Amino acid sequence: MTDVRNVIIIGSGPAGYTAALYTARASLKPLVFEGAVTAGGALMNTTEVENFPGFQDGIMGPELMDNMRGQAERFGAQLVPDDVVSVDLTGQIKTVTDTAGTVHRAKAVIVATGSQHRKLNLPNEDALSGRGVSWCATCDGFFFKDQDIAVIGGGDTAMEEATFLSRFAKSVTIVHRRDSLRASKAMQERAFADPKIKFVWDSEVAEIKGEQKLSGLTLRNVKTGETSELPVTGLFIAIGHDPRTELFKDQLTLDGEGYLVVDAPSTRTNVPGVFAAGDVVDHTYRQAITAAGTGCAAALDAERFLAALV
Ligand code: FAD
Repeated sequence: MTDVRNVIIIGSGPAGYTAALYTARASLKPLVFEGAVTAGGALMNTTEVENFPGFQDGIMGPELMDNMRGQAERFGAQLVPDDVVSVDLTGQIKTVTDTAGTVHRAKAVIVATGSQHRKLNLPNEDALSGRGVSWCATCDGFFFKDQDIAVIGGGDTAMEEATFLSRFAKSVTIVHRRDSLRASKAMQERAFADPKIKFVWDSEVAEIKGEQKLSGLTLRNVKTGETSELPVTGLFIAIGHDPRTELFKDQLTLDGEGYLVVDAPSTRTNVPGVFAAGDVVDHTYRQAITAAGTGCAAALDAERFLAALV
């Protein structure tokens, strides 16, 4: 059995590494599970990040995460490139089990496991990520000035992304596999009223085309089976996110969409000593800087919780 730690952090995106930096600087010697294949989190899959403050000329996503990792390590965070496979958060001493079956114990746990954007699961989707294919208009819209863009989806997020993108784009085509939208009335009306936004109904993406960069889409009508070409240089996939909360679902309170519920503005979950930060909590903002901000808040909440124990 391992020693009882002050704090274990699960996740290594901006939220996890920021929580690691703060708890390390508070001499809490955090143990950080980074994930086996996805250490560094969502920004490892992108190219340039232009909206993280402090980098005037932008920075590549993997480099930003490497910097955060190094900064946390410099102050004594112990980083483990492994997955957590089970947790018991209920008692005063929480346990976290890794893939080798080793049980790690701590007085506090910070959950920062992020969320996974849903994919179309088509060839080329990952290869062209950051090269025309995106999941975040706030992050990448600016790169698509005066270009023709497709947005996939029919919910609020798709309408919001399309309306936002129409500020920059030459045209925005919303491709939806049904003949009506799921989005709220207000969001629908805003999209219908936008002269730059067109709709292709009853259709799905059959092929994402391009070698080094996206050059277009082949669409398939789901009713007739007919295919058509859509020449676009931007593709925004807005078909939802899945928060990574599978491990916690029987122990922590989740909302209807599976996100962890915290006692905002704090990062406290329903279990004393367990805090949550970043996209695993956040439906709304889903940005690196907001994840880092709540990671900081979780570290400070954990610090105060631990101080009150003695
Ligand atoms: P994540 O970054 O998702 O990290 C979660 C971490 O948890 C991962 O390291 C994973 O390995 C780990 N994990 C999960 N489960 C386990 C487990 N069981 N055991 C151990 N570890 C686990 N935002 C911006 O502000 N600017 C941008 O330009 C930008 N571009 C983006 C481009 C792309 C392609 C994507 C997908 C997102 C982009 N975002 C951008 C959004 C931003 O990346 C996220 O908002 C941010 O990364 C969320 O941080 P997080 O720490 O909550 O989660």
